[in-house]
Amino acid sequence: MKNNANKLNKSKIIKLEELNWKQIENLDKNKTIFFLPISPLEQHGPHLPVGTDLLTIKDVVNNAVKILNKKNPDLTFVLIPPIPIGYCKFNTEFPGSISVSGKVVRDVVYSVGSALGNHKFKYMVVCTFHLAVGHLRGIYSAMKKLESEFDLKTCEPWGPIYFKRDIEKREPKLGFDTSKEVHGGFRETSLMKYQYPYLVDESYKKLQSIYRDVMSPRVLGKNFKEIGLKDGYIGSPARADADYGRWFFNEIVNVFVESTLKLLKGEQQEELPNYIKVAMKALFWQ
Ligand SMILES: [Zn+2]
Repeated sequence: MKNNANKLNKSKIIKLEELNWKQIENLDKNKTIFFLPISPLEQHGPHLPVGTDLLTIKDVVNNAVKILNKKNPDLTFVLIPPIPIGYCKFNTEFPGSISVSGKVVRDVVYSVGSALGNHKFKYMVVCTFHLAVGHLRGIYSAMKKLESEFDLKTCEPWGPIYFKRDIEKREPKLGFDTSKEVHGGFRETSLMKYQYPYLVDESYKKLQSIYRDVMSPRVLGKNFKEIGLKDGYIGSPARADADYGRWFFNEIVNVFVESTLKLLKGEQQEELPNYIKVAMKALFWQ
């Protein structure tokens, strides 16, 4: 019987773990783009699952790849399995948060990228929904190393858009200040109500709004409990709305699609704002 396993079915999302090395070797190095989702399990308040960032990034990448497949049938988009790690030390006072050092994040991203670069692949999109500075530092130092050591072009789409507050400029009028929604608040609760309503505990409706400026020097280096966040969220989860969740989800997907197209065209990516770059440099590896 003829074995067609080596033929790729491009109408389906291509997952790296389902390919054999022969199929991988046969991919066109200049026309294949890999996606590496990497976000930790981290507490997101008493109402959201610890996998909020991981589930979100996994679904965002899936949807972005579906759109990209339609737009660019001559290219091959390959999904690397989501890696459930990241730096979130400030949240480990809560059970379920698993933090690795920024160095480990760097080593993992570098190892994956160099495995591709060593075989002459050209493109990798590093996908995270978790944006702790220590996590980003790991990702960006790995990307820098990969770009200089290999002919591998990389990008991280979400950090620049989030920190430049572009979402606040684009989002529908809501009648309240969304700039203080940081963690497990209105935005993430809305996202989960849209994506995984059965994983959102109904108690979210009664949670009070709590705000903290996590970038302020006063709170830098402290964990959530030390700055009075005993329930583990920052923002106003009670306002959550699945329709906003749908809008936000699609907006994130579009950011990933646009950023991937820019990567392919060799166009300049959005950059992290300076205050984040400065914070990344100032940080010790921990
Ligand atoms: Zn999150």
